[in-house]
Amino acid sequence: MRKMDANLRKLIVECPKAELHYHIDCISPELFWRFSQRNGIDVPINSLQEAREFYNFQTLDEFLTVMLTAISSIQTENDFAEMVIECALDMVKQNIVYREVMFDYTACYGSRGIPVETVVNGFAKGLTLAKQQIKNLDIRFIANLDRTAPVDQNCQYLNELVKYRELLPLIAVGMDMQEIGYPPHKQADAFAIAKGYGFKLTGHVGEVVGPEGIWDALQSIPLDRIDHGIRAVEDEELIKILAEKQILLTLCPASNISLGVYSSWSEFPIKKLMNSNVRVCINSDDPPCFHYDLTGNLIKIAETFDLSTTEVIELIRNSFIFNFAGNEHLSNVDAWLDKNLST
Ligand SMILES: [Zn+2]
Repeated sequence: MRKMDANLRKLIVECPKAELHYHIDCISPELFWRFSQRNGIDVPINSLQEAREFYNFQTLDEFLTVMLTAISSIQTENDFAEMVIECALDMVKQNIVYREVMFDYTACYGSRGIPVETVVNGFAKGLTLAKQQIKNLDIRFIANLDRTAPVDQNCQYLNELVKYRELLPLIAVGMDMQEIGYPPHKQADAFAIAKGYGFKLTGHVGEVVGPEGIWDALQSIPLDRIDHGIRAVEDEELIKILAEKQILLTLCPASNISLGVYSSWSEFPIKKLMNSNVRVCINSDDPPCFHYDLTGNLIKIAETFDLSTTEVIELIRNSFIFNFAGNEHLSNVDAWLDKNLST
């Protein structure tokens, strides 16, 4: 690993960026502490410092415990609003001009009896407040289905959720939670409903389960994009199809390394995918848990693989080319790059 060129680091930090794989449910230790105090939730922390320490985990099981405990502190419309405001302020900090934000209602909130209305109203309120402070803020929402829930329940959820699309910029339906034992085709009927409503489709596959999970998804659901999908790299035929169909993979390197999919940054197989013309972009997944935000992930990947300026720009531009809102921001980014690379 070579010491990174200062100009390239500057470009990554300052360039307008988009992020397409970011779970708003994974709140920061600060919000975890604030919500648990405010809502009187019994949690195993007694200070903000302890909340921060609580986010250190070693195994997948510990990660799930951290996530679910933190999420259990989220209760009210105001909590959901504050989650959006925190997300928006983080975008400003990182020069992220567009973010697609995922939430999993069923796994995180429905299971505790919180109505869909509370979640959607809270997000919408947060977005309105954030837009009053931040010019040109652009956040869209992806409703992730809990793949471990029965498909009929997910179909019912979508039929309810669609009533709120005027209130909240809902742009796509995705899928997350445990891959093992829950092949994508089991949710095909729910995705058919989502497509009928005009939502774009994406889903977490090829993270823990290998290429067979991605094949299953491609054969049963008309996915526009794939979240993670990194393990496609193990199957030459799959690599060829993803490249031909130009299906973007929203890669999350720090997440995969934290959860042990790869044992180090140098083992993350992004170069093979890029060299095979598979479209990929970089994302942070659950940044409070994995300790790298989008900028941090980009810097670490560029540094580890000694990426050229052209390769870094390709990663940044892919997030704009393949986002679900169309590429309305792309010309601004290209104008920024023209100006800043020519001087
Ligand atoms: Zn994810």
